Parts: sequence; structure tokens; C-alpha cells
Amino acid sequence: VKLPSTARTHRRARKISSASSTKSDHVIPEETRRLVDPATENIYEKKRLLGKGGFARVYEVVQINQPECQRLQPRSCAAKIIDKSRLVRPQQREKVEQEVELMQTVRGHRNIVSYYSSFEDESAICILLELCNKKSLAQYLRRKQYLVEQEVCNITRQIVEGLSHLHGKGIIHRDLKLGNILLTDDMTVKIGDFGLAAKMDAGKKKTICGTPNFIAPEVLQRQGHGPEADIWALGCLLYTLLVGKPPFETACLRDTYRCILKNNYRIPTTVSPEAADLVKSMLRQKPKSRPTLDEIKSHAFFTKHSSYLDTIEIAPSANEPGS
Ligand code: ADP
Repeated sequence: VKLPSTARTHRRARKISSASSTKSDHVIPEETRRLVDPATENIYEKKRLLGKGGFARVYEVVQINQPECQRLQPRSCAAKIIDKSRLVRPQQREKVEQEVELMQTVRGHRNIVSYYSSFEDESAICILLELCNKKSLAQYLRRKQYLVEQEVCNITRQIVEGLSHLHGKGIIHRDLKLGNILLTDDMTVKIGDFGLAAKMDAGKKKTICGTPNFIAPEVLQRQGHGPEADIWALGCLLYTLLVGKPPFETACLRDTYRCILKNNYRIPTTVSPEAADLVKSMLRQKPKSRPTLDEIKSHAFFTKHSSYLDTIEIAPSANEPGS
């Protein structure tokens, strides 16, 4: 994927942004308040900062210059902006191009953040994505403090669906964590941030990547890792949603790595036997012993909660006669 190069855009963006002013000026300087896609000439106005990552800032943006009938994407979307000054090495730019390419490959699934388009100006690369208004699962868990098991089940099931789609397309995510799982207004769960994702056919990966707490033992040992490393991270994610903190959390990184390599973690007794069993299977040391996504989908943790949901749907409500 080649992102269109555009000095022209930059000039245009400057000209347009000086044309008017709104009350959001005190948050985002006028100079940087608007973005222009040179290919489509679409103009986007930044509304609010949604989050910051290792390389990018993500803003809610609204397209302001095209009639509804001509629009190929929703008017409001998320703009992931990567400052070029942060891409010092050529490989870093290649990674961004690869992120865009992989997002194009996997788009169209309900549980994956949709990719719309990308463009660049002199100072930044901009990737336009589906807006997930409720931000990330990390922020959601922080707000709610703890989740009931049924909600954990509902969230995990959707992550598993998204991950099945990714793996089916031959892509490993390699950075599954709460901050990369996004939520829409109607609580649809979406896998985002493909910055570390890779194609499986490119051979077994040996580079260390991923968030320290969710890093799989085979990744740490540089044994070469495949899609099973995503299953491990999913196990860590499920544990965190159930318990409120990651399974291998310690005061220092070295101890965390030691715990990962020794498979040293404890599941509190408050966690149901079905959920505990699923976590344990996903956190098996040997990658090949971990369950496949199909096996995970039919695990008792999910069947238990889906039958419970069926029951409450057909049961009479508490104030109806005979209940
Ligand atoms: P990086 O690749 O630099 O790590 P991310 O893609 O993880 O950046 O984005 C950083 C943060 O921005 C996320 O943790 C989340 O809070 C927010 N964010 C990212 N994408 C979206 C989106 N599509 N909708 C809403 N918020 C988003």
C-alpha cells in the first residue's frame, strides 16, 4: 500500500483551517484543526481526542464538505494520526503501511474496527477508522471496576469471533490487550490496532512484541510463535476481565516474565469453574496444547451463559402472575 504523497494537501489544509473558527479552538489549535484527503478532497474537522497510543493520537473527526448521498463512509469517524517526526527509521513507515494493508484485508467483520481510508500530508499520516464511541475495554473496565461473568462472556465471545476472522485470513494480531479492544455505543466489541499484526505465511515470528503482561512464553523465549500466542493473550484478557487485574502482574517486569515462564498465576475462587477451566486451557505453556478458536467457542463457559440468556428471555417477568 502506498499512501498518497501530498504537499498540496498540507497547503490546502492550512488555507481552509484559517477560514473560520469554532468553540473547539481552545482544545485543538486552528492550524491543526482540519484534515484534507487529497484524493477525495474530503475535509475532516477534529472534534475531540479519543486516545493516545505508542505512535498515534486518535481523534473523533467529522466530515464537513460532502453531501450525505455521496459519502462512502459515516460522517463521524476516528482519525488515527501518526506524526511523521515519530517515524525516524524506514521500517517504522513500512509498519504503518503494513498496518493499513492488513486492516484492508480484514475489513467487513462486525467484531473488527472498520478501515475506511488513509492519506498523508507533510507532517502526518492519517488513517480513518470506524468510530468506537465507548473507547477501549481498558477504559471501560476502569470505569466499571468489575464486570459480571455474563458480561465477560458476551465480550469474550465477540473477541473470539473477530479473532476467528483474523486467523481465517491468515493474520496474527500479536498485541491483544484491553486497550486494543474497542466498544461502540451499542456495546459491540471490536478488535483494533493492527500495528503489530503479521501474516502467518511469512514464517514463524521470532521478534519479541506485545504488551509485557500478555506476552506468551514462546514469544519471550524467541522460539518462534504463531496464532497460539493470540490464544494466550486472549486467556490473559479473559482473566483480567474476570479478576480485575492481569494474571502475571508483579511489581517489576523481570518478575512478570519469570511468572510467565513458570506459569505461575492463581485464579481466585470467586471465578466459576467453567471460566477457570477456559482460562487454564488458554494459558497452557505449550502453544499446541492450547484450544483452537472453534474449541473455545464450544466451551462450557459460553454454552452455560447462552442457555442462561435463553432462559431469562422466555421466563415471565418478576411482576407477572405465576412467576
Ligand atoms: P497505537 O497504534 O499508537 O498504539 P491505538 O490504535 O492503540 O494507537 O490507539 C490509541 C487509543 O486511541 C486506543 O487505546 C483507544 O483509546 C483510542 N482509539 C483507537 N482507535 C479508536 C477508534 N476507532 N475509536 C475510538 N477510539 C479509538
